[in-house]
Amino acid sequence: MSDLFRRLLSEREWLLADGATGTNLFARGLNHGDAPEGWNLAEPDKVRAHYRDFIEAGSDIVLTNSFGGTANRLKLHGLDDRVFEVNRAAAALLRAEIDAARAATGREIVCAGDVGPTGDLFAEVGGVLTPETARAAFRAQIEGLKAGGADVIWIETMSSAEELTAALEAAAEAGMPAISTMSFDTNGRTMMGVTPAGLARLAHSCAHPPAAFGGNCGTGAPDLLIGLLSVVSQLGDEDVLVAKANCGIPEYVDGAIRYSGTEELMADYACLARDLGARVIGGCCGTTPAHVRAMREALETRPRGPRPTAEEIVARLGPASAAAMELLQEGGGERPAEAERRGRRGRRAGREARGPEAAN
Ligand SMILES: [Zn+2]
Repeated sequence: MSDLFRRLLSEREWLLADGATGTNLFARGLNHGDAPEGWNLAEPDKVRAHYRDFIEAGSDIVLTNSFGGTANRLKLHGLDDRVFEVNRAAAALLRAEIDAARAATGREIVCAGDVGPTGDLFAEVGGVLTPETARAAFRAQIEGLKAGGADVIWIETMSSAEELTAALEAAAEAGMPAISTMSFDTNGRTMMGVTPAGLARLAHSCAHPPAAFGGNCGTGAPDLLIGLLSVVSQLGDEDVLVAKANCGIPEYVDGAIRYSGTEELMADYACLARDLGARVIGGCCGTTPAHVRAMREALETRPRGPRPTAEEIVARLGPASAAAMELLQEGGGERPAEAERRGRRGRRAGREARGPEAAN
């Protein structure tokens, strides 16, 4: 265990991650439609202030402002020829804040190079991506994050097992450890049909296993925790589970999405996530530094409890979807046809001795 993330995990029961990047940068004046990553070059002081807020709120892990930092996404903003520069700046600005905090307080904080989906689909589902082009796009981004001083790569909000695999390969090629979280936002599954159990299988079977895996974003905090609850019995002692849920439940108010989560609710969520077995805990959309501060205080002051049931999660955090509750049934909520298809694919993959059989 040489890298900072794994070393801190070996020393502590849990690590607190940060909250939302996008929603908090919008609150600092980023215009809707503009690339948040462009601010790494144009508004470095605002990006540093954003990082500093989460460091001061008590985050042990802070994500860089580089969610859309592949050329595929930067292209939409005319920044695709500056992939390395944009990502290096994202990490270097965070590195500077982390180093300053360490000099002042002695705290050790992980600089997590954030990698989101390319936004493109793979050729087999009608898109343009291939495993090679996806891996190359992620590799170019990760090299920038590495040059800027990232300790670990955090691959998040993934929907496709193939795309996640490509990103994990790119991180491994760059010599970086990786955390990977998927967004289970469609009937308890990712948009491409991966269940939490499918992600666990992928993490257990892929050539470059992530140092930690779990869920981020999605619908609400209750669904995310129930999704993770559906896989905890399949995890081993070496598995590190991640929960980075949205701030409560998204609601439409006057045509815009708002997140219902209060500081009290996110404090409850953080403790439920810990009691469920998650060791890396943070917030996604809507989560502010004030929420993170409340989560830290709760995790530090409330004693650990027994693993919560789905009913307890709902009673504390609010209603879950029927699809999330279905995940708790035997088979991780996969319908018989999916399990059968996966079984056939798995047997074929086994015969060919290749790649992850898991998860789509
Ligand atoms: Zn989110």
